[in-house]
Amino acid sequence: MIQFTSEQEEFRRSVARFVDAEVVPEAQAIDERAEFPLDLFRRVGELGYFGLRYPEAYGGADADTVTYCLFAEELARGSLSLAAAAAMQSLMGTYFIYKHGSEDLRRRYLVPALRGELVATFALTEPNAGSDLASISARAERRGDGWVLSGTKTWVTNAPVADVLTVGAKTSAERGLKNIALFLVDRRSTAGVTLGKKIPKMAVRASETGEIVLDGAFVPAEHLLGGETGGVEKIGTILSEIRVMTAALSVGLARAAYQAALEYARARVAFGKPIVEHQAIGFKLADMLASIHAALLLTYQTAAQIDAGRTVTREAAIAKLIASETAVKVTDEACRIFASYGLADEYAAQRYFRDARFLLPGGGTSEILRVVIGRDLDLARGRVLS
Ligand SMILES: Cc1cc2nc3c(=O)[nH]c(=O)nc-3n(C[C@H](O)[C@H](O)[C@H](O)COP(=O)(O)OP(=O)(O)OC[C@H]3O[C@@H](n4cnc5c(N)ncnc54)[C@H](O)[C@@H]3O)c2cc1C
Repeated sequence: MIQFTSEQEEFRRSVARFVDAEVVPEAQAIDERAEFPLDLFRRVGELGYFGLRYPEAYGGADADTVTYCLFAEELARGSLSLAAAAAMQSLMGTYFIYKHGSEDLRRRYLVPALRGELVATFALTEPNAGSDLASISARAERRGDGWVLSGTKTWVTNAPVADVLTVGAKTSAERGLKNIALFLVDRRSTAGVTLGKKIPKMAVRASETGEIVLDGAFVPAEHLLGGETGGVEKIGTILSEIRVMTAALSVGLARAAYQAALEYARARVAFGKPIVEHQAIGFKLADMLASIHAALLLTYQTAAQIDAGRTVTREAAIAKLIASETAVKVTDEACRIFASYGLADEYAAQRYFRDARFLLPGGGTSEILRVVIGRDLDLARGRVLS
């Protein structure tokens, strides 16, 4: 049983009020325009949600992981596009500046990003390197009092609008993972950083995605975040949080799809009664609810373990695997309940169905998560639960 504190419950209600009043009414339109929703993004910043995980000294709220997940879940219920952009801003896009940046960099980039005045993102993936980070080919070469970056990053969230990027690049020509380092790149003031091709896509369409091309981009030495090696280990320190946050996004999206399907099933009449009264549809809804319930428990149990200071590598991988696959399944079932109308633009069911696919690759694909979960399996001795 997950026991939220009264502060957490109140926080959830306040995010839900914002989502219902300001996000839900816009969600369909921003998806159709497939444009970054700058006004809504700024509102999330004004409300202080980007800073939830960060200390008050930088405009944050010093909130725990459970609270951060409540935010992610509620926002995803309204618009997964906005939630994807917000997740990037509040975690990967800002974390390394906070953790490894100088006080000056924190003031110049972290503080305005947490207010929503700068768009921050993270660029690691390349055309030939996704899960396999050892294959990254972007290079960072020392020049004078700084570094010159070259290479192409792809699938960069918010690439068309990003002001500041944390970029992963290799500081030597060796193969492998060790020599990947992280650099802060100020897109507005750095020559040699351009937007490559945009990636129009079926999911989270309003969280625009694209390539960032680095062509001899010079960054000062201070922009090297945390040393010339060990970038992957640095990412590893927040991987469980990324996974549990993605699990929370999944729960939020699945809840939205379930709610829409339930309302539709109560209103739609076939063969003389609401379709919810046909057992096949009632059982679908029961299965959807049961799997959302299980995903929710896993998500918040893992978040609470993070807050208790435990290492949850396997648990976070399980939470993300189960919750994201649940979102895919539940949004599919919701579309089946809507039947023809599940394909219609006028209903949100089709958007939920498309958006669910976004939850699969980020933070480790389902296949990679199974590799993580299966590592050092202790099933032979019957130890399943941790
Ligand atoms: C909407 C969206 C936004 C994104 N935003 C960002 C971002 O902001 N910054 C960023 O850096 N990246 C971002 N990504 C990229 C994302 O992190 C990668 O897509 C992800 O790491 C997977 O890489 P890939 O797509 O190249 O797949 P690949 O790694 O090429 O995998 C292809 C297939 O092979 C499987 N596979 C690969 N290796 C193994 C293995 N060892 N064992 C079993 N199966 C394996 C995978 O599971 C998958 O099914 C984003 C992706 C999307 C869809």
